Amino acid sequence: MLVTLLGTGSPLPDPERAGPATLVRAGGLDLLFDCGRGVLMRLAAAGSGPTALATVFLTHLHSDHTSDLNDVITTRWVMSMAPSPLTLVGPPGTQAVVDRTLEMLSDDIGYRIAHHDDLTEGPQVHVIEVLDGPVELPALAAAGVAVTAAPTDHRPVTPTVGYRIEHDGRSAVIAGDTVPCEGLDRLVAGAGVYVQTVIREDVIAQIPLARLQDVCDYHSTVTQAAQTAARAGIGTLVLTHMVPAPPPGGAQEWIDVATAHFGGTVLAPDDLTAVEVRPATAG
Ligand SMILES: [Zn+2]
Ligand SMILES: [Zn+2]
Repeated sequence: MLVTLLGTGSPLPDPERAGPATLVRAGGLDLLFDCGRGVLMRLAAAGSGPTALATVFLTHLHSDHTSDLNDVITTRWVMSMAPSPLTLVGPPGTQAVVDRTLEMLSDDIGYRIAHHDDLTEGPQVHVIEVLDGPVELPALAAAGVAVTAAPTDHRPVTPTVGYRIEHDGRSAVIAGDTVPCEGLDRLVAGAGVYVQTVIREDVIAQIPLARLQDVCDYHSTVTQAAQTAARAGIGTLVLTHMVPAPPPGGAQEWIDVATAHFGGTVLAPDDLTAVEVRPATAG
């Protein structure tokens, strides 16, 4: 199993970091988690693409995690030579967002159907809304891949979910935006790789902007992510969605904050870093 950080950015535009998105390769399947800014460019750089995706998962409906969902839907549609419905898994509310996205795209869909004789219908999106429990999909089952959702805590944004992916004795968790909570602890327990969006409240506290201060109460701090990792006995903690993003060469400081609370491996990677998930027994 391979976890590739496609976008390690946040809502704040950064020339080096695309918006939140993570690719998990397991059992021969390409699974995409979140669709932040620039996701298809990073997906191409990772050797994948919209038509190669077995399933797309959304952790929540904040715009930084969904801004390029419309690009995934449209580009998969126009690049597929035969109808290729997109399976999209997300928290309750996802279907409504997809309905509105397709409405937004309706002019474009009309232009393309009118122009291409072999395009006779618009993009198909098969939405599955989940909150807690296994994600039941034949494509996953056939590949021996299990994906489990659990509710997270990103209030006042609700509902939000995290995902645990398991294959061949390996496991990874894509937590999304959340503070520590019971659902997160359940997902992360014993995982090989735990990917957590994080902020540095000690750095943000020095920036006198109320709108920035607001983000502190619904994101895990680096310390909290490390404490979650330590409680769960995981292998590797991956910090992403870092706010404020560290300058080039500045990630080690974030890693040092985490390793004060967690004895395992800690990464604060750049975009397109791939992390091999090892069997839990290998530590
Ligand atoms: Zn969010
Ligand atoms: Zn976010």
